[in-house]
Amino acid sequence: MKELRLRARAKINLGLDVVRKRDDGYHEVRMIMQTINLYDKILLQKRRKPGITVTTNLGFLPVNQDNLVYKAAQLLMDEFSVEEGLNIDLQKYIPVAAGMAGGSSDAAAVLVGVNRMFRLGLSKQELMERSVKIGADVPFCVMRGTALAEGIGEKLTPLPELPDCFILIAKPKVFVSTKFVYGNLKANELKEHPQIDAQIDALNRDDLHAVAKYMGNVLETVTIPEYPVIEEIKRTMLDHGALNSMMSGSGPTVFGLFEKREDAQKAYNALLRGEDAKQVYLIEQSSCRRVRRKKDER
Ligand code: ATP
Repeated sequence: MKELRLRARAKINLGLDVVRKRDDGYHEVRMIMQTINLYDKILLQKRRKPGITVTTNLGFLPVNQDNLVYKAAQLLMDEFSVEEGLNIDLQKYIPVAAGMAGGSSDAAAVLVGVNRMFRLGLSKQELMERSVKIGADVPFCVMRGTALAEGIGEKLTPLPELPDCFILIAKPKVFVSTKFVYGNLKANELKEHPQIDAQIDALNRDDLHAVAKYMGNVLETVTIPEYPVIEEIKRTMLDHGALNSMMSGSGPTVFGLFEKREDAQKAYNALLRGEDAKQVYLIEQSSCRRVRRKKDER
């Protein structure tokens, strides 16, 4: 195998709770993670000359060890003393620094791809175990689908898939630092917590309305006061028939769940017309499921 094309899929959080801040500074979370049908494209090419090179369509991203695709390739190539070299071309479509685990998903796809390309023989579980060295969200990005994430995000329990729906994604023109958000979260003083267990029940019942009803993200308490545009985008989605709308991860990306394509399309048009959102995507979630079922697709 000389080259391999991969799709690195984004995630949203249907629910995000921070249970407590641990003494070591880490936050213990309970999150419902959902892979969505929005992806970066990655091309891996073997070459004789040893080493790793990275090219990308976004000029501001690092192309050295600081890029998570580089880290992922290096992790496996060092462990297995791979003597050949690797070119990685990364075409980004997932909004960057947006709460959608774009970098983590790229890293996960490269782990899967390098394992296959160099015939390293690692199982999915073995890849997941190694992947946490790159970041807490990477094991989920290797696993994909729907899952409850606990601990610092790395303890995963698979859940039934999100029922078929339309997902609208809108990223406002603001930059949010994940460090700032967690740093300013008063985790041990939170009065309200999302009902994660009720949302798990809703997934078990394949009940889209109930999944939407129990959406909640404690990080909104930090990010929205700082960036009110997030609330504006949520309002636009709700005004156009979203079952519910919420910030994903530490933000600033907002997503809405819609039952009807027409409503999602109207909200999409309204966001495109307005000034609040910089990037807007309308996603048919059921097709994500079909695509994922193709066995050899990544
Ligand atoms: P999360 O949801 O896990 O918090 P995120 O969406 O907030 O992720 P990313 O898009 O993964 O954040 O990237 C955040 C930072 O990581 C960027 O500022 C970028 O410089 C760096 N980075 C390194 N590798 C990548 C990559 N492959 N794609 C995007 N960003 C990358």
